[in-house]
Amino acid sequence: MTTTARSDATLTTDVPMLDLGYQNRQVVDEVAEGFARVIDANEFILGSDVSAFERQYAAYLHVDHVVGVGNGTDALVLALRAAGIGRGDEVVLPTNTFVATAEAVALVGGVIRFVDCGPDYLLDVDALGAAVSSETRAVIAVHLYGQVAPVERIRGIVGDDVVIVEDAAQSQGARSGDRWAGALGDVAATSFYPGKNLGAFGDAGAVMTGSAAIADRVRALRNHGGLRKYEHTEIGTNSRLDSLQAVVLNAKLARLDGWNQERRAIATRYTEALADVDGVTVPTTTPGVDHVFHQYVVELDDRDRVLDELNAVGIGAGIHYPAPVHLLPAFAEVSPGAGAFPVAERQAGRIMSLPIYPGLDEGAQARVVEQLVARL
Ligand SMILES: *Cc1c(COP(=O)(O)O)cnc(C)c1O
Repeated sequence: MTTTARSDATLTTDVPMLDLGYQNRQVVDEVAEGFARVIDANEFILGSDVSAFERQYAAYLHVDHVVGVGNGTDALVLALRAAGIGRGDEVVLPTNTFVATAEAVALVGGVIRFVDCGPDYLLDVDALGAAVSSETRAVIAVHLYGQVAPVERIRGIVGDDVVIVEDAAQSQGARSGDRWAGALGDVAATSFYPGKNLGAFGDAGAVMTGSAAIADRVRALRNHGGLRKYEHTEIGTNSRLDSLQAVVLNAKLARLDGWNQERRAIATRYTEALADVDGVTVPTTTPGVDHVFHQYVVELDDRDRVLDELNAVGIGAGIHYPAPVHLLPAFAEVSPGAGAFPVAERQAGRIMSLPIYPGLDEGAQARVVEQLVARL
C-alpha cells in the first residue's frame, strides 16, 4: 500500500483489487529452497515435484486423480476431450463466466448452448432444465466467485448419461457439504493463475477426476498424445505443469485453508457493514456451502459512476465480468443475442467486485466500505 497526497489535499491510502505480497512472503523461503533443488536436479518439466503436487492436491480434494497441466483453459479443453466431448457435441454452460469456459468448448469443436444464471450468479437450474435436449452431451458447472454450483441438482436434471464438467478455477478449497469443489462432477478443471485462491508464479492448471480412464487420457493428451516418449497414440498437445510451478503450489497448498478462512472473515465484515445499507446488495451463500470468496461481488444501481469514483480515490474495485459471454464479439456467431439472458445481462450492468485477498487489513477494508457508502 502506498500513501498518496490527492488533489483534494486529503491524505488517502490506496487499496488494490488484489495484493499477493502477503501470500508470497509466507512461501518465499520454501519456494527458494525448492527452486534450488529443481535447478540442481535439472528436472524442469513434470517430474517429482509435479507428481507430489498431484498426489497432495488429490488427497486434499478427496478425489482419485489430479493431472497437472499448463493452465486452466487447457485443463478445460483436455477435460472435455478426455471425457469424449468433441466436434458437434452440444455443451450447456452459463453465460456469466470468464470467457475461457466457452473458449474451451469452441476449441474442441463443441456446440455452445448458453443458459442464464440466478440471483446467486450460478447457473440457473430451471433454465438448464429448459435448455437440455437429447442432443446435450455435457454441462459445465462453473463455481463462480468461489461459491459451489448446484452439481447434485444439475445431475438430477441431466441424468447419468450427460457429462458434468466442473469449472473449478475460482473455487480451490470450496466445499458443498463434505465434498470439495472439483470432486463433484465427472471431471473438473482448475486454474492456478497467480490471482486464483491457489495460484502459481505463472500459468498452471489441473484436471481432477474419479475416473482412471479420463485421468490416463489427460496424461497422454497433455504430453503430445502419449504416456511414453515417442509413442504417440493420438494427437495431443503440449500442456505440462512445470516443476517450478509445482514447488510454489505445494508450498501454497499447505496454507490454502488458512487463506480461505481469511477471505471468509473479510467477506463477513463486508456483509456486516453493507447488508443494511440502502442501494447496495450483498452476496448470499448457499446453505451448506463453504464459499471461498475468490471475489466479493455487490450490486448497485449507478455502478459505472461509483466504480470510476472509487478507482479515482485509489480503491481497486473491478467488474467480473463487464459482459456475459454471449454478448462478447468473439461469440456473436453462437449467441442468441442481446435480451436472451436477462438476469445475467442485468447483473453485468450492476455488479462490482470489492478488494478481497488474504492480508487485506481491517483498516483498509473499512476505507473501502466508507468510500463506497459515501457514493451510494
Ligand atoms: C481463470 C479462469 C479460467 C482460465 O484459467 P487460465 O489459467 O487463465 O487459462 C477458466 N475459467 C474460470 C471461471 C476462470 O476464472
